[in-house]
Parts: sequence; structure tokens; C-alpha cells
Amino acid sequence: MNSSLSIIQQIDAILPQTQCGLCGHRDGCLPYAKAIVEGEDANKCVPGGQPVADALAELLHRNKLIAEPSVWPIQSDGRPQRMKAVIREDECIGCTKCISACPVDAIIGSGKLMHTILTDLCTGCELCIAPCPVDCIDLVEDIQPIPNNEQRLFEQNDLRSRYYAHIQREEKQRIHRKGPVVRAEIDTELFAQITQNSQSLPTIEIVEAPQKKPIVTDAKTTIELAKLRTQIKKLEKQLSVRADQNKQDQLDQLLRQLSVLQGESE
Ligand code: SF4
Ligand code: SF4
Ligand code: SF4
Repeated sequence: MNSSLSIIQQIDAILPQTQCGLCGHRDGCLPYAKAIVEGEDANKCVPGGQPVADALAELLHRNKLIAEPSVWPIQSDGRPQRMKAVIREDECIGCTKCISACPVDAIIGSGKLMHTILTDLCTGCELCIAPCPVDCIDLVEDIQPIPNNEQRLFEQNDLRSRYYAHIQREEKQRIHRKGPVVRAEIDTELFAQITQNSQSLPTIEIVEAPQKKPIVTDAKTTIELAKLRTQIKKLEKQLSVRADQNKQDQLDQLLRQLSVLQGESE
């Protein structure tokens, strides 16, 4: 592995893996780790707070900086209060928008059915809140004991794996997706590069759009197609004014010819 990828991974190992984007990198901790290597300040991870900012400064032999403030109070471990999201289930309309927004797949439910959050997996990243059209997701304080270092490392590794599995699924859907993409554009190539060098992370593969066959149409076919389209348009116009079975039959015939000719020319 090259040295730049190795240092990116060492930085990423310190980041909480909440994937919240509060550092300004909407697609998560790994892109922020990369930006730090490229010279960005290492104090911007909001959920990591001062302990993460200090650990990064130490790793990188940089001056210690005051961590970006959080809106939540500071816990006894020096990090901001851990939060969890909760859906007010009786108000949920089952639109599924929160599911694709959740980076660690902590929400279950399907179309038009009530959704629920798996509390153990929720990191309180808040990313599901804005997409909810009926504003039925609340954030509450996490009342579980603060994890020790070993538990935190286990949690981070699990969240990282869940996020990478989420990215691979999003990547597969990206090519065929019709409606709007709720989640930020993800630098999939960076994630793919990192997973190639890891035994423990789900592999991320870039999905290429299927190549469209080039349309080759000779001059004679082009003229035929143009003629057919003109005749079809004329008949459709006439039929829109008055129904006529003969004309309808002619139109059906022309549409069949058009379809055959188009098939041959592609
Ligand atoms: S936890 Fe959030 S703020 Fe911290 S590095 Fe990851 S994405 Fe950025
Ligand atoms: S359920 Fe909401 S707050 Fe919890 S991890 Fe998923 S997107 Fe973040
Ligand atoms: S976005 Fe809101 S309304 Fe839609 S499924 Fe999620 S919680 Fe329910």
C-alpha cells in the first residue's frame, strides 16, 4: 500500500465513523481523512470533539487546535453527548426517504409501511432528519454507558463496515436510479481503493453503466424512417379529430413498420 493511503487509514482509524459530514465532508470520515493528509486542519470532527482533535494532532505531529464545537454538551470522556434518533411511528407515512439517507443502515421498513430505527446501530448522525417529509424523527440523548476504548474501536469498525456495505449498494443502484439522490455524491473510487487493501472491509467495486450500442443508420433507412414518421404524425392528427377504423388500421401498420426498421437500424 502506498504511504499516503496508509496515513489516510491511520487517521480514519481515529475518526468516530459516524459518517455525519459535520466536518464539511458530506460523504463521511474517509474523505475527511484524505483531506487532512492534503493539508486540512485536523480539528473539524464534531462528534469526535477534543479527544479526536488531540489524537490526530499527535499522530500528525501538528500543533493541537481547539475542536469544532458541538451543539450538544460535553460528556465525561471529553466528547459531545452521544445522541440517537427515534421515529414517532404513528406519524410515519412510510415514504422510505430516511432509509437511503442512513449511512449505517440503521432504519428498517418498506414502502408505505411504518419505519423504525434500530437503536443499537443509530449513531445520531442526524442525516435522516432533513429528508423526512413529515418531520417525525426526533433526536434523544443516548442513555447507554459511554464506551471504553476497546468498545469504541469495535463500534467504529462495525460502523465502517456497515457504511461501506451501504456505499456498495448505493453504487449498484446509482446507474439505474430514477428519482433524486438523497445522499451526497460519494467519492466511490477512494472507498474502493481502501477496500482493495483490506481483508476486513466489504469490497467496494465501481459499477460501470452498460455501454449503449452506437446507432448506425444508412442514408436509405434514414429517409424511410423520416417518411414513416411523417405519415404517422399525419394519421395521428387526423384520428385525434375524428375516429376512423381504416385510418387506425393504417396507423397500426405504420407503427409496426417503424418499430421493425428502428430495430434493424440499432
Ligand atoms: S464523524 Fe462526522 S464529522 Fe467526524 S470525520 Fe466522520 S463525517 Fe466528519
Ligand atoms: S437512524 Fe438517522 S440518526 Fe441514526 S444513524 Fe441512521 S441516519 Fe443517522
Ligand atoms: S422519512 Fe419520515 S415519513 Fe418517511 S419513512 Fe422515514 S420516518 Fe417515515
